[in-house]
Amino acid sequence: MTSAPLRMLWIQSGGCGGCTLSLLCAERPDLERALALHGIEVLWHPALSEATGSEAAALLDGAARGETVVDILCVEGAVLRGPHGSGLFHRLGGVPARQRIERIARRARHVVAVGTCAAFGGISAAGANELEACGLQYEREEPGGLLGAGFRSRAGLPVINVAGCPTHPGWVLTTLALIARGELGAGDLDELGRPRFYAARLAHHGCDRNEFYEFKASAERPGQGGCLMEHLGCKGTQAHADCNLRLWNGEGSCTRGGYACIRCTEPDFADPGHGFLSTPKIAGIPVGLPLDMPKAWFVALASLAKAATPERIRVNAHADRVLVAPRTRPRAAPDGSAAKAPGGRRRR
Ligand code: SF4
Ligand code: SF4
Repeated sequence: MTSAPLRMLWIQSGGCGGCTLSLLCAERPDLERALALHGIEVLWHPALSEATGSEAAALLDGAARGETVVDILCVEGAVLRGPHGSGLFHRLGGVPARQRIERIARRARHVVAVGTCAAFGGISAAGANELEACGLQYEREEPGGLLGAGFRSRAGLPVINVAGCPTHPGWVLTTLALIARGELGAGDLDELGRPRFYAARLAHHGCDRNEFYEFKASAERPGQGGCLMEHLGCKGTQAHADCNLRLWNGEGSCTRGGYACIRCTEPDFADPGHGFLSTPKIAGIPVGLPLDMPKAWFVALASLAKAATPERIRVNAHADRVLVAPRTRPRAAPDGSAAKAPGGRRRR
Protein backbone atom coordinates (compact mmCIF):
# COMPACT_ATOMS: atom_id res chain seq x y z
CA MET A 1 0.00 0.00 0.00
CA THR A 2 1.77 3.13 -1.14
CA SER A 3 -0.82 5.83 -0.39
CA ALA A 4 -1.13 7.35 3.07
CA PRO A 5 -2.95 5.14 5.56
CA LEU A 6 -6.58 5.88 6.38
CA ARG A 7 -6.91 7.13 9.92
CA MET A 8 -9.58 5.40 11.93
CA LEU A 9 -10.95 6.73 15.20
CA TRP A 10 -13.11 4.42 17.31
CA ILE A 11 -15.45 5.66 20.04
CA GLN A 12 -17.23 3.34 22.45
CA SER A 13 -20.53 4.81 23.49
CA GLY A 14 -23.56 3.26 25.22
CA GLY A 15 -23.04 -0.44 24.66
CA CYS A 16 -21.50 -3.47 26.30
CA GLY A 17 -18.21 -3.48 24.39
CA GLY A 18 -19.14 -6.81 22.83
CA CYS A 19 -18.62 -5.54 19.30
CA THR A 20 -14.97 -4.79 20.09
CA LEU A 21 -14.58 -8.22 21.70
CA SER A 22 -16.06 -9.76 18.57
CA LEU A 23 -13.67 -7.76 16.39
CA LEU A 24 -10.73 -9.07 18.41
CA CYS A 25 -11.78 -12.57 17.30
CA ALA A 26 -11.06 -11.75 13.66
CA GLU A 27 -9.01 -14.47 12.06
CA ARG A 28 -7.48 -15.23 8.70
CA PRO A 29 -6.14 -12.56 8.90
CA ASP A 30 -6.29 -11.33 12.46
CA LEU A 31 -7.29 -7.76 13.28
CA GLU A 32 -3.82 -6.23 13.26
CA ARG A 33 -2.87 -7.83 9.96
CA ALA A 34 -6.21 -7.02 8.36
CA LEU A 35 -5.92 -3.33 9.22
CA ALA A 36 -2.34 -3.21 7.93
CA LEU A 37 -3.37 -5.04 4.77
CA HIS A 38 -6.06 -2.47 4.04
CA GLY A 39 -3.87 0.49 4.93
CA ILE A 40 -5.83 1.53 8.00
CA GLU A 41 -4.13 3.13 10.96
CA VAL A 42 -5.80 3.20 14.36
CA LEU A 43 -5.75 6.80 15.45
CA TRP A 44 -7.35 5.83 18.73
CA HIS A 45 -9.40 2.97 20.10
CA PRO A 46 -10.20 2.87 23.83
CA ALA A 47 -9.31 -0.81 24.14
CA LEU A 48 -6.36 -0.94 21.75
CA SER A 49 -4.57 2.36 22.25
CA GLU A 50 -2.25 3.39 25.05
CA ALA A 51 -3.50 6.95 25.19
CA THR A 52 -6.04 7.50 27.92
CA GLY A 53 -7.33 10.29 30.17
CA SER A 54 -6.31 13.82 29.18
CA GLU A 55 -4.15 12.52 26.30
CA ALA A 56 -7.14 10.79 24.72
CA ALA A 57 -9.40 13.77 25.41
CA ALA A 58 -6.90 16.05 23.64
CA LEU A 59 -6.93 13.73 20.64
CA LEU A 60 -10.73 13.77 20.52
CA ASP A 61 -10.74 17.57 20.85
CA GLY A 62 -8.33 17.84 17.93
CA ALA A 63 -10.54 15.58 15.81
CA ALA A 64 -13.63 17.64 16.70
CA ARG A 65 -11.86 20.85 15.65
CA GLY A 66 -10.62 19.29 12.42
CA GLU A 67 -6.94 19.59 13.41
CA THR A 68 -6.63 15.80 13.32
CA VAL A 69 -8.03 14.34 10.12
CA VAL A 70 -10.37 11.40 10.65
CA ASP A 71 -10.95 9.25 7.58
CA ILE A 72 -13.16 6.71 9.31
CA LEU A 73 -15.11 7.33 12.49
CA CYS A 74 -16.37 4.08 14.01
CA VAL A 75 -18.88 4.33 16.81
CA GLU A 76 -19.76 1.31 18.91
CA GLY A 77 -22.74 1.52 21.27
CA ALA A 78 -25.80 3.74 21.22
CA VAL A 79 -25.72 7.48 21.71
CA LEU A 80 -27.04 8.24 25.19
CA ARG A 81 -28.93 11.50 24.99
CA GLY A 82 -30.38 11.49 28.51
CA PRO A 83 -31.20 12.89 30.89
CA HIS A 84 -33.53 15.27 29.08
CA GLY A 85 -31.33 15.52 26.00
CA SER A 86 -28.30 16.76 27.96
CA GLY A 87 -26.10 13.76 27.18
CA LEU A 88 -24.80 13.83 30.76
CA PHE A 89 -25.49 10.12 31.25
CA HIS A 90 -22.33 9.50 29.25
CA ARG A 91 -19.37 11.84 29.41
CA LEU A 92 -16.16 11.22 27.51
CA GLY A 93 -13.21 13.23 28.81
CA GLY A 94 -15.61 15.51 30.68
CA VAL A 95 -17.73 16.31 27.62
CA PRO A 96 -21.04 14.61 26.73
CA ALA A 97 -20.15 11.81 24.33
CA ARG A 98 -23.09 12.77 22.12
CA GLN A 99 -21.45 16.14 21.52
CA ARG A 100 -18.07 14.64 20.70
CA ILE A 101 -19.57 12.07 18.35
CA GLU A 102 -21.66 14.62 16.49
CA ARG A 103 -18.77 17.05 16.01
CA ILE A 104 -16.34 14.43 14.79
CA ALA A 105 -18.94 12.75 12.55
CA ARG A 106 -19.54 16.03 10.73
CA ARG A 107 -15.84 16.21 9.85
CA ALA A 108 -15.14 12.53 9.17
CA ARG A 109 -14.83 11.15 5.66
CA HIS A 110 -16.81 8.03 6.55
CA VAL A 111 -18.96 7.24 9.56
CA VAL A 112 -19.50 3.61 10.52
CA ALA A 113 -21.97 2.46 13.16
CA VAL A 114 -20.51 -0.74 14.59
CA GLY A 115 -23.27 -2.95 15.98
CA THR A 116 -27.01 -2.60 16.35
CA CYS A 117 -26.73 -0.18 19.31
CA ALA A 118 -24.81 2.36 17.23
CA ALA A 119 -26.96 1.73 14.17
CA PHE A 120 -30.46 1.72 15.66
CA GLY A 121 -30.24 2.02 19.46
CA GLY A 122 -30.24 -1.74 20.03
CA ILE A 123 -30.33 -3.17 23.54
CA SER A 124 -29.47 0.23 25.02
CA ALA A 125 -32.72 1.69 23.65
CA ALA A 126 -34.91 -1.24 24.64
CA GLY A 127 -37.97 -1.02 26.84
CA ALA A 128 -38.81 2.38 28.27
CA ASN A 129 -35.47 3.73 26.99
CA GLU A 130 -34.74 5.84 30.01
CA LEU A 131 -31.25 6.48 28.67
CA GLU A 132 -32.81 8.24 25.64
CA ALA A 133 -30.54 6.02 23.57
CA CYS A 134 -30.56 6.17 19.79
CA GLY A 135 -28.45 5.16 16.84
CA LEU A 136 -26.27 7.51 14.82
CA GLN A 137 -28.80 7.94 12.02
CA TYR A 138 -31.77 5.87 13.17
CA GLU A 139 -33.94 5.58 16.22
CA ARG A 140 -34.96 1.96 15.84
CA GLU A 141 -36.30 1.85 12.26
CA GLU A 142 -37.08 5.58 12.09
CA PRO A 143 -34.48 7.70 10.27
CA GLY A 144 -33.15 10.51 12.45
CA GLY A 145 -31.05 9.43 15.40
CA LEU A 146 -28.26 11.72 16.56
CA LEU A 147 -27.16 13.00 13.16
CA GLY A 148 -30.49 13.31 11.38
CA ALA A 149 -31.97 11.55 8.38
CA GLY A 150 -30.24 13.85 5.89
CA PHE A 151 -26.74 13.35 7.27
CA ARG A 152 -24.04 12.55 4.77
CA SER A 153 -20.38 12.11 5.65
CA ARG A 154 -17.69 14.00 3.73
CA ALA A 155 -17.56 11.07 1.32
CA GLY A 156 -21.25 11.65 0.57
CA LEU A 157 -22.53 8.49 2.26
CA PRO A 158 -25.05 8.05 5.05
CA VAL A 159 -23.91 6.31 8.20
CA ILE A 160 -22.82 2.79 7.28
CA ASN A 161 -24.73 0.53 9.65
CA VAL A 162 -22.78 -2.63 10.34
CA ALA A 163 -25.65 -3.95 12.46
CA GLY A 164 -25.48 -7.07 14.60
CA CYS A 165 -25.34 -7.76 18.32
CA PRO A 166 -22.49 -8.27 18.37
CA THR A 167 -21.51 -7.55 14.84
CA HIS A 168 -19.41 -10.15 13.03
CA PRO A 169 -15.70 -9.24 12.77
CA GLY A 170 -15.82 -10.11 9.07
CA TRP A 171 -18.61 -7.59 8.48
CA VAL A 172 -16.56 -4.82 10.09
CA LEU A 173 -13.30 -5.66 8.37
CA THR A 174 -14.86 -6.16 4.95
CA THR A 175 -16.66 -2.82 5.32
CA LEU A 176 -13.39 -1.12 6.24
CA ALA A 177 -11.64 -2.85 3.34
CA LEU A 178 -14.30 -1.68 0.87
CA ILE A 179 -14.01 1.87 2.19
CA ALA A 180 -10.23 1.73 1.87
CA ARG A 181 -10.52 0.52 -1.72
CA GLY A 182 -13.11 3.16 -2.57
CA GLU A 183 -15.57 0.41 -3.42
CA LEU A 184 -18.44 1.16 -1.07
CA GLY A 185 -21.08 3.38 -2.63
CA ALA A 186 -24.61 4.30 -1.57
CA GLY A 187 -25.96 1.50 -3.79
CA ASP A 188 -23.99 -1.02 -1.76
CA LEU A 189 -26.10 -0.26 1.31
CA ASP A 190 -29.62 -1.55 1.88
CA GLU A 191 -32.65 0.52 2.90
CA LEU A 192 -31.39 0.64 6.50
CA GLY A 193 -27.82 1.53 5.60
CA ARG A 194 -26.46 -2.01 6.11
CA PRO A 195 -23.80 -3.21 3.67
CA ARG A 196 -25.48 -5.55 1.22
CA PHE A 197 -22.52 -7.94 1.08
CA TYR A 198 -23.86 -9.47 4.28
CA ALA A 199 -27.38 -8.02 4.60
CA ALA A 200 -28.63 -9.41 1.29
CA ARG A 201 -28.75 -12.84 2.94
CA LEU A 202 -30.89 -14.28 5.70
CA ALA A 203 -29.50 -16.07 8.73
CA HIS A 204 -31.72 -18.96 7.59
CA HIS A 205 -29.52 -19.43 4.50
CA GLY A 206 -27.06 -22.20 5.18
CA CYS A 207 -28.55 -23.13 8.55
CA ASP A 208 -27.80 -26.82 9.14
CA ARG A 209 -31.39 -27.29 10.35
CA ASN A 210 -32.83 -26.41 6.93
CA GLU A 211 -33.92 -29.98 6.21
CA PHE A 212 -35.99 -29.93 9.40
CA TYR A 213 -37.44 -26.54 8.45
CA GLU A 214 -38.57 -27.90 5.09
CA PHE A 215 -40.67 -30.56 6.80
CA LYS A 216 -41.62 -28.38 9.76
CA ALA A 217 -39.98 -30.99 11.95
CA SER A 218 -39.45 -28.84 15.01
CA ALA A 219 -37.41 -29.04 18.17
CA GLU A 220 -39.70 -28.84 21.17
CA ARG A 221 -37.03 -28.39 23.81
CA PRO A 222 -33.52 -26.88 23.86
CA GLY A 223 -30.90 -29.41 22.84
CA GLN A 224 -33.01 -31.11 20.21
CA GLY A 225 -31.93 -31.17 16.58
CA GLY A 226 -35.04 -29.90 14.79
CA CYS A 227 -35.87 -26.47 13.41
CA LEU A 228 -36.11 -23.83 16.15
CA MET A 229 -38.75 -21.69 14.47
CA GLU A 230 -42.03 -23.30 15.47
CA HIS A 231 -41.48 -23.50 19.24
CA LEU A 232 -38.15 -21.97 20.27
CA GLY A 233 -38.29 -18.46 18.82
CA CYS A 234 -35.97 -18.70 15.80
CA LYS A 235 -36.30 -15.71 13.46
CA GLY A 236 -33.59 -16.70 11.03
CA THR A 237 -36.07 -16.35 8.15
CA GLN A 238 -36.48 -12.67 9.03
CA ALA A 239 -32.89 -11.73 9.88
CA HIS A 240 -30.74 -10.01 7.27
CA ALA A 241 -27.34 -11.58 7.87
CA ASP A 242 -25.09 -14.29 6.49
CA CYS A 243 -24.27 -15.86 9.89
CA ASN A 244 -24.72 -19.44 8.70
CA LEU A 245 -22.61 -18.90 5.60
CA ARG A 246 -19.88 -16.77 7.18
CA LEU A 247 -19.46 -18.67 10.41
CA TRP A 248 -18.26 -17.20 13.69
CA ASN A 249 -14.85 -18.11 15.09
CA GLY A 250 -14.37 -20.30 12.07
CA GLU A 251 -17.17 -22.72 12.84
CA GLY A 252 -20.16 -21.51 14.83
CA SER A 253 -23.44 -19.64 14.64
CA CYS A 254 -26.36 -19.18 17.02
CA THR A 255 -28.45 -21.92 15.43
CA ARG A 256 -25.50 -24.32 15.16
CA GLY A 257 -25.00 -23.81 18.88
CA GLY A 258 -28.65 -24.70 19.50
CA TYR A 259 -29.72 -21.12 20.19
CA ALA A 260 -32.48 -19.45 18.20
CA CYS A 261 -31.65 -16.58 15.87
CA ILE A 262 -33.10 -13.48 17.57
CA ARG A 263 -32.80 -11.18 14.53
CA CYS A 264 -30.08 -9.06 16.10
CA THR A 265 -29.29 -7.21 12.89
CA GLU A 266 -32.79 -5.68 12.79
CA PRO A 267 -33.71 -2.31 14.33
CA ASP A 268 -36.43 -3.61 16.66
CA PHE A 269 -34.90 -6.92 17.74
CA ALA A 270 -34.41 -5.91 21.35
CA ASP A 271 -38.14 -5.52 21.98
CA PRO A 272 -39.68 -8.69 20.59
CA GLY A 273 -42.73 -8.50 22.87
CA HIS A 274 -42.13 -12.08 24.03
CA GLY A 275 -39.32 -14.23 25.38
CA PHE A 276 -36.43 -14.51 22.93
CA LEU A 277 -36.60 -18.29 23.02
CA SER A 278 -40.33 -18.76 22.57
CA THR A 279 -42.51 -18.50 19.49
CA PRO A 280 -45.76 -16.59 19.86
CA LYS A 281 -48.63 -18.22 17.97
CA ILE A 282 -52.21 -17.53 17.06
CA ALA A 283 -54.34 -20.63 16.63
CA GLY A 284 -51.15 -22.69 16.60
CA ILE A 285 -49.60 -20.70 13.74
CA PRO A 286 -46.37 -18.77 14.44
CA VAL A 287 -46.93 -15.01 14.29
CA GLY A 288 -43.55 -14.13 12.78
CA LEU A 289 -43.55 -15.87 9.43
CA PRO A 290 -40.79 -15.75 6.80
CA LEU A 291 -40.46 -12.25 5.32
CA ASP A 292 -41.62 -13.01 1.81
CA MET A 293 -44.22 -15.73 2.25
CA PRO A 294 -47.99 -15.08 2.47
CA LYS A 295 -49.49 -16.63 5.60
CA ALA A 296 -52.00 -18.81 3.71
CA TRP A 297 -49.21 -20.39 1.66
CA PHE A 298 -47.15 -21.02 4.73
CA VAL A 299 -50.03 -22.74 6.50
CA ALA A 300 -50.84 -24.90 3.47
CA LEU A 301 -47.21 -25.84 2.83
CA ALA A 302 -46.53 -26.50 6.49
CA SER A 303 -49.37 -28.99 6.85
CA LEU A 304 -48.40 -30.76 3.62
CA ALA A 305 -44.76 -30.89 4.69
CA LYS A 306 -45.64 -32.24 8.13
CA ALA A 307 -47.74 -34.97 6.56
CA ALA A 308 -44.82 -35.96 4.33
CA THR A 309 -42.07 -35.89 6.97
CA PRO A 310 -39.76 -38.90 6.60
CA GLU A 311 -39.27 -41.03 9.73
CA ARG A 312 -35.56 -40.13 9.93
CA ILE A 313 -36.31 -36.42 10.11
CA ARG A 314 -39.23 -36.81 12.50
CA VAL A 315 -37.12 -38.84 14.94
CA ASN A 316 -33.96 -36.74 14.71
CA ALA A 317 -35.88 -33.48 15.18
CA HIS A 318 -36.66 -34.51 18.75
CA ALA A 319 -33.31 -36.05 19.61
CA ASP A 320 -30.08 -34.47 20.85
CA ARG A 321 -28.02 -36.39 18.28
CA VAL A 322 -28.60 -38.20 15.01
CA LEU A 323 -30.49 -41.38 15.92
CA VAL A 324 -31.52 -42.40 12.42
CA ALA A 325 -28.90 -42.07 9.69
CA PRO A 326 -29.86 -41.48 6.05
CA ARG A 327 -30.45 -44.75 4.18
CA THR A 328 -27.73 -46.08 1.93
CA ARG A 329 -28.73 -46.41 -1.71
CA PRO A 330 -29.13 -50.12 -2.64
CA ARG A 331 -26.38 -51.38 -4.97
CA ALA A 332 -27.46 -52.78 -8.35
CA ALA A 333 -26.76 -56.52 -8.74
CA PRO A 334 -24.19 -57.40 -11.42
CA ASP A 335 -26.82 -59.27 -13.49
CA GLY A 336 -29.11 -56.29 -13.13
CA SER A 337 -31.87 -58.53 -11.77
CA ALA A 338 -32.36 -56.86 -8.43
CA ALA A 339 -30.68 -54.37 -6.19
CA LYS A 340 -28.59 -55.52 -3.27
CA ALA A 341 -28.87 -53.90 0.11
CA PRO A 342 -25.64 -53.27 2.04
CA GLY A 343 -24.52 -56.65 3.39
CA GLY A 344 -25.30 -58.49 0.15
CA ARG A 345 -28.94 -59.52 0.56
CA ARG A 346 -31.13 -59.11 -2.52
CA ARG A 347 -33.81 -56.50 -2.15
CA ARG A 348 -37.29 -57.56 -3.02
S1 SF4 B 1 -24.55 -4.12 19.49
FE1 SF4 B 1 -24.72 -5.72 21.09
S2 SF4 B 1 -22.61 -6.46 21.34
FE2 SF4 B 1 -22.46 -4.46 20.28
S3 SF4 B 1 -22.23 -2.96 21.92
FE3 SF4 B 1 -24.44 -3.13 21.53
S4 SF4 B 1 -25.17 -4.65 23.04
FE4 SF4 B 1 -22.94 -4.87 22.91
S1 SF4 C 1 -33.53 -23.05 13.02
FE1 SF4 C 1 -34.07 -20.97 12.26
S2 SF4 C 1 -32.51 -20.48 10.74
FE2 SF4 C 1 -32.43 -22.70 11.09
S3 SF4 C 1 -33.79 -23.62 9.56
FE3 SF4 C 1 -35.05 -23.27 11.37
S4 SF4 C 1 -35.93 -21.20 11.03
FE4 SF4 C 1 -34.21 -21.40 9.61
